[in-house]
Amino acid sequence: MNLLEIVGNLGNVPVLSVSFQEVGIAAALIGAVGAVIGIFLGVAGKKFEVEVDEKEVQVREFLPGNNCGACGYAGCDSLAQAIAAGQAPANACPVANSAVHDQIAGVMGTSAGKTEKKVAFVKCAGSCDKTKVKYNYYGIQDCKKAAVAPGKGPKQCGYGCLGYGSCVKVCQFDAIHVINGIAYVDKEKCTSCSMCIAECPNNLIELVPYNTGHFVRCSSNDKGKDVKAGCSIGCIGCMMCVKACEFDAVKVTDNLAKIDYSKCTNCGKCAEKCPTKVILSELAGNAIKEQTKAV
Ligand code: SF4
Ligand code: SF4
Repeated sequence: MNLLEIVGNLGNVPVLSVSFQEVGIAAALIGAVGAVIGIFLGVAGKKFEVEVDEKEVQVREFLPGNNCGACGYAGCDSLAQAIAAGQAPANACPVANSAVHDQIAGVMGTSAGKTEKKVAFVKCAGSCDKTKVKYNYYGIQDCKKAAVAPGKGPKQCGYGCLGYGSCVKVCQFDAIHVINGIAYVDKEKCTSCSMCIAECPNNLIELVPYNTGHFVRCSSNDKGKDVKAGCSIGCIGCMMCVKACEFDAVKVTDNLAKIDYSKCTNCGKCAEKCPTKVILSELAGNAIKEQTKAV
């Protein structure tokens, strides 16, 4: 018998007649095809199964989820994968605190070791009242754009803070603010994620130990005479700090003083002797207000 049999016409509409036997055959065929597909998917699923690493999942849960990339990985997922695989240490996330590092180390069955807290610091003190400008800048209010304007921006000093707050925009922790033309970091809020460091076109921001109390707030490599012509608080490379330091912790290179934090004892003699007061003497724990007072 034909599967489709036209038995008559209702007006011009053809009517189909299918026997029970044919319905049964069709159902059996569909069932068989379904079973074959099911078996195929089951085998393929087993073959291509990606095993979930329990350690990776647990490590990821402890990581802060900022995806800032300060650890050197693409984001928190990538770092969790690297830690679980033993390719990164338990304390690799600079945003997480030492308690979190210990928890991650617990998952990995290792010790997180001691991590020294670091915070971002802006190496410029050339606020609006301390620096001269070459011209008025009416361009886009963005440091990277202003830095490529003629003369490396409107300020007389081409090394200093441009003050348009590109660093402020990238900080997810409200830890950096521009006050009187200069960016300041609130060390209590800073998580050392380094996003501001990557953003500053003049490379003015660096991580310094949280407990260090003395910093050189200048980045100019100009000779003293040229520094003085544009900024009343810049480093003039006079070596007074070098002579004052009993611990060999200050060096002047390319007309700029730099403190070796590993040698610095915070005795304060360099700050005392500095004629331009470019060395910031800050007690641990003081935050943005203290920095602002010093300007
Ligand atoms: S100031 Fe903000 S962006 Fe810069 S390191 Fe600190 S938390 Fe990160
Ligand atoms: S520190 Fe750098 S990014 Fe921040 S305001 Fe100054 S120039 Fe701009």
